[in-house]
Amino acid sequence: MKKDIRSLTYGELENEIKALGLPRFRAGQIYRWLHVSLVESFEEMTDLPKSLRQSLNDNFVIFGCTIEMKLVSEYDSTIKYLFALNDGEVIETVLMKYKYGYTVCVSSQVGCRMGCKFCASTLGGVVRSLLPSEILGQVYAVERDNGIRVSHIVMMGMGEPLDNFDNVMRFLQLVTDEKGQNIGMRHISLSTCGIVPKIYELMDKNLQLTLSVSLHAPNDEIRSSMMPVNNAYNIEKLMSACREYAKKTSRRISFEYALVRGVNDTAACAAELASRLGGMLCHVNLIPVNEVKETKCRESYPETVKKFADVLSSKGITVTVRRKLGADINAACGQLRRSRTANNSATGERN
Ligand code: SAH
Repeated sequence: MKKDIRSLTYGELENEIKALGLPRFRAGQIYRWLHVSLVESFEEMTDLPKSLRQSLNDNFVIFGCTIEMKLVSEYDSTIKYLFALNDGEVIETVLMKYKYGYTVCVSSQVGCRMGCKFCASTLGGVVRSLLPSEILGQVYAVERDNGIRVSHIVMMGMGEPLDNFDNVMRFLQLVTDEKGQNIGMRHISLSTCGIVPKIYELMDKNLQLTLSVSLHAPNDEIRSSMMPVNNAYNIEKLMSACREYAKKTSRRISFEYALVRGVNDTAACAAELASRLGGMLCHVNLIPVNEVKETKCRESYPETVKKFADVLSSKGITVTVRRKLGADINAACGQLRRSRTANNSATGERN
């Protein structure tokens, strides 16, 4: 079996190169081709002797992403990609342009097994977890396609990152490596539906990334009706993990709250949420739920969203109402892959 070369750390690559009887400086060259020049084949590593390129090709494989479909929003230039992996599975990646730079939203799994009722990514269950190289490959493919450098990464695409813990940790190590993309850990957000033991495991790594927690409800009754994970780890357990996490890492936790009409959007919900979060180093992101046709969730009315935000602010909780980007291109999690795999046909521009 050929080895997945782009998932290797610099040190591991050096060892592999040594094992092939090659001088150590070759590792530096190859690592640069893989993680700075972003080549897709050994053939492109033009300053290596042909025999070495051949031997790399015999021993290793470069996993990447090829563009299967690309949709550009007419409203805000957000780009949504459907990428094909080496085994033909498809995943979604989104590029967003902000004043401060480019942000890529990456997937961590093909599908998801968390079962959140409002989310399209989980409708068909999980197919498999992504390799570190396949998470990196999304960033690299977007950079190549647009001739840009990405400054921020959010792990808010398909899948549950903490359900693919080891590969996600390795991805973080690789993408922040100063010999590679050198993206600052503080420029990375990781979003979880709340797998409590994994939050503690992440806390012990003491990373400077931003932890986003998909809360979506102020109490167990509502949360369990929206998110099955709440049956395993209820709000109280989740909140104590979050409090401890914020204390240990001194990093503000970001709570995601998708407002669903008539489900979790009343002023009473807002007040209950405020009392849950009181005193914690945190921030709340409100977003009207993206309507997915297979789910019954409908977005809250704008005045309800405003009222909800006002209640939180009046109780001293910092809150933003998130802008919706790419609403015209199915930019919300899992919808594009879904439309592709469910109907086997898709609209949009093909590459
Ligand atoms: N599994 C992780 C990360 C992927 S989802 C998590 O649950 O956090 C990224 C964010 O989008 C999560 O907050 C998720 O709850 C939210 N989300 C999923 N479907 C949505 C929808 N239809 N509308 C609004 N937000 C949605």
